[in-house]
Parts: sequence; C-alpha cells; structure tokens
Amino acid sequence: MTQTASDQKSGPASGAPVDGPSPVADRPGSQLRELRLEGVTRAYGAHTALQPLDLTLRGGEFVALLGPSGCGKTTALNCLAGLLPLTGGQITLDGQRIDTLPPEKRGFGMVFQNYALFPHLSVRANVAFGLKMRKVGKAETERRVDEVLRLVRLGEHARKHPGQLSGGQQQRVAIARAIVLEPPLVLMDEPLSNLDAALRLEMRTEIRRIHQQFGLTTLYVTHDQEEALSLADRLVVLHEGRVSQIGTPADLYEHPADPHVAAFMGYRNLFHLEVASADGDGVLARGRGMAMQGTPVADRRLVEGDRVVVAIRPEDVHLAQDGGRADVEAVAEIVEYHGRQFHVEALTREGDRIHFTTAASVRPHDTVSLTIPAERAMVFLQDPREAAA
Ligand code: ATP
Repeated sequence: MTQTASDQKSGPASGAPVDGPSPVADRPGSQLRELRLEGVTRAYGAHTALQPLDLTLRGGEFVALLGPSGCGKTTALNCLAGLLPLTGGQITLDGQRIDTLPPEKRGFGMVFQNYALFPHLSVRANVAFGLKMRKVGKAETERRVDEVLRLVRLGEHARKHPGQLSGGQQQRVAIARAIVLEPPLVLMDEPLSNLDAALRLEMRTEIRRIHQQFGLTTLYVTHDQEEALSLADRLVVLHEGRVSQIGTPADLYEHPADPHVAAFMGYRNLFHLEVASADGDGVLARGRGMAMQGTPVADRRLVEGDRVVVAIRPEDVHLAQDGGRADVEAVAEIVEYHGRQFHVEALTREGDRIHFTTAASVRPHDTVSLTIPAERAMVFLQDPREAAA
C-alpha cells in the first residue's frame, strides 16, 4: 500500500526569498519550508529499486527512512542528494525543481557511516572546508566553526587530526561539517552503524540534541527501528522499494499498517493462518496447530477462508493458567535472562517459533501452554503477492 504524507505546511517558515545562482543560497537553513518528492522512482535496468515515492518534508522536520537491507533506502537518499538520476517523478524545494541539479547545486549536507573526513586536515580545518569553498569570510568562518564545534562538544579537540579521535568523535566532526553550512536539508545514511552499542546510544541522543538546537530539516536512513523511533518526528517504512507506511512513531507503534511494519515495531511473532470465523470486531484464526482470537486490521471485512497474518508482541504472549484456555502449545528452546524477565523462544509442533516474555522460570525443553489476549493479536489480510510467492 502506498501512502502519501500529509501535505500540511507547518514549521518555521521565514518567508525570506532564496537568491543566488541556484535555489540553494549559502545560509538557507531557515528558509526551507517544504521539500516535496512526487512519484520519485529509480530503476536499475529491469529492477525497480524504488517504486513511486510521494513524501513531503516540512521545514525543521526529522524524518527517518526505515526498512530492511535492500528495500531501497540508500537509493532514495542518493536520488535526493543528486548522486543518482531519477527514472521518474520530480523533487521540488519550496516549489523550485531541484532533481535536475547536480549535487553541489543542491547544497545538501551529507553524513555517511564511514565519516569521509580529510585525514590530513585538523578537526577545525575539516569543519571549515565547506565554508572556505563557498568563499565565506575568515571572521565569519571562525565564528561559525567555533559555534558548531561547541555544539557537537569538540571544542577542545579542534587541533587534532581525525586519526587521533574515537569513532564517535569522528562522526561528530562529520556532523559538524555537514551542519556548519546550514544546508536546507541534512541527509544521513546509517551514520551510527560503525559505532559500538554504547556509543550508538550516546550519539543517538547527541544527534537529537543537535537537531533540537539547530533545527535543520533532516532525512535519516536506518534499518534500526529503535534508532528511527527515538530520533524521528515521522517515519517512512519501506519494503521492497514501496512505502508500507508513513507516520509518527506513535502511529506506527500503535497502528502498524501491515505485517512488515508490525515486525519492525516489535511484533516478533507473525503467524500465517486462516480465518475460521469472523464477526464485526473479532476474528478466529486457525492453522498450524493454533487457534487464536484476534482483532482485524484490514481495509475490508475479513471473512471465513481469508489467509491472514497474525502479529503479536512477545510481551503479549502469556503462560496459560492451569486448566485455562491455551491458544498455542510449544516447547521452550532458548531461555534468556533479562533481569526481571526471561525471554523465551519456543517451538510449536508444526515448527513455528514463538517468542514470549515471562517472570516465571521456564527451562529449555519445558512444554508451555500459551494464551494471547484477542485485543493484542493483530490480524492482517495477507498480501496476495506474498501469498502467491
Ligand atoms: P542497505 O540497508 O543494505 O544499504 P538499502 O535499503 O539501502 O539496503 P538499496 O541500496 O537502495 O537498499 O538497494 C535497493 C535495491 O536496488 C537492492 O535490491 C539492490 O540490490 C539494488 N541496487 C542497488 N544499487 C544497484 C546498482 N547500482 N545496480 C543494480 N541494482 C542495484
């Protein structure tokens, strides 16, 4: 299902005209009101990596492009940056067409996972480089570089070379270098993926803080849903080159539009079942040795015989009471201790894996009877393209 972002204008609209030879002036950050992608498409030969993408970014917004490897995230980002020509559609910045401009005329800030710093230049010189290229005066350059180095907390490392910095510090230099130009748009492609887990968390907070202070419109590519949820104002979830859903983190978390979005939002259990009976609010789905009540999430009313995907979060699967109703029987295989709770991966007789959390002590090889509250089991109509596959 392709969705279009709501096109309401909001955010800081300064109203100042954009001047200069391209639509992108030297300090146009606060001038961006709207970046609009309409039917943006990219094919490699016969393979369409990006199906027509409609998306409007509003000034100051932080949007994450989220999806598994190969879903077309980098392709979309490179189309925006001007590194890849579109095979269809158009991109406009405040009403002016930019997809025909080369990357340097778009003037977007770019941050990549490999930092791409100049190793022979100091931190200060790396950050000042773009301003020098734009022939910004010395005093103005000093002032802006100082301000940005302070913002990314690298003031005391200004004289060092990249090789003398940690990975997180190098990434902060890369961010500083991108934002010092106050570009209309900052593009970030998996900027944290080369960092270890602790540093990723720290840098995530740092990126959010920098965005709050500087307010630059940002498009951030990641396959990490936690990163996307914690950073972005809105998320665009891609699956095989198509938009599955566009929405706020809360929209996607509470109302995933399809099983792929659900999987990204923590619905680790996805079961392919068939509707045995359905009334207005509820569905009984059966198959693969399971029978469970669920809540339909579909564009049309589900009927008996429909093939469905039932999505459930591990924390919504419970051990059945003695003698109580059980929806699924399984044998515990892997039990992980996570402080207050155990995370259990169990196997049903039909070979499906089911993940659940429990405070009870479950041991590997224990047989467990599990129940799932009907309001916590989301029942999606299976995509006919996937049913045929
Ligand atoms: P990852 O997270 O692994 O970087 P991604 O979501 O960014 O993946 P893309 O790199 O945009 O995905 O690739 C989308 C699809 O286009 C993939 O199927 C990929 O194999 C294909 N593709 C990418 N670049 C090319 C190319 N130069 N020529 C042919 N096919 C390509």
